[in-house]
Amino acid sequence: MSEVQTQITCLCDEVFPVHYDDELDIAQEENRKKILEGQYLSFSCPACRKAVKIEPRVRLYDGNDCWEVFPETERDHFLAGGLEISRDLHRVVFGYKEMAEKVRILGDRMDDRPLEILKFTFLEKQGWPEGVSLTYHEIRDGKIFFYIEGLKENEVGVTAVPQPFYERIQGQLGSPPPEWADVLSGPYVSVQKLGSQ
Ligand SMILES: [Zn+2]
Repeated sequence: MSEVQTQITCLCDEVFPVHYDDELDIAQEENRKKILEGQYLSFSCPACRKAVKIEPRVRLYDGNDCWEVFPETERDHFLAGGLEISRDLHRVVFGYKEMAEKVRILGDRMDDRPLEILKFTFLEKQGWPEGVSLTYHEIRDGKIFFYIEGLKENEVGVTAVPQPFYERIQGQLGSPPPEWADVLSGPYVSVQKLGSQ
């Protein structure tokens, strides 16, 4: 772990010092909880008491796997090939939401690759509607639940996919169909890559 000390500025103009770990072991449940509950990288302003969130570059570790978390704003830069990333990374993600999703997937011991392919299949069926995104939520009663944002304004939808669909995709990962290649190519395993093309 390495602790970073910095100063942040609240919307109310208060400047105050904070510290956070820029490396987090997510094999530990308490660290996963901190991310999922939104406490990680969130600080209470001493003047107005509002939560101030920051989005620095951080690294998450899970055993030998390392994930680098970039600010959301770096995604386009990365997709354009302008972001230098080290080759030993297991995954990269962009923004807190993607980080939390991967942590949820890991906590449930799921494989992110078939999950991204399920999203791909859903979005393809819908004709790639602009601004629509799916986020893995949970696996329950033999079904995999995704939250859908952007289909209707200010509404989050839910879709449930039977687990055998997931398992069938997982079984095909050894020789995947060519149309999955872009989604599955690491270290950014995400259907988001296609949405912004
Ligand atoms: Zn404030």
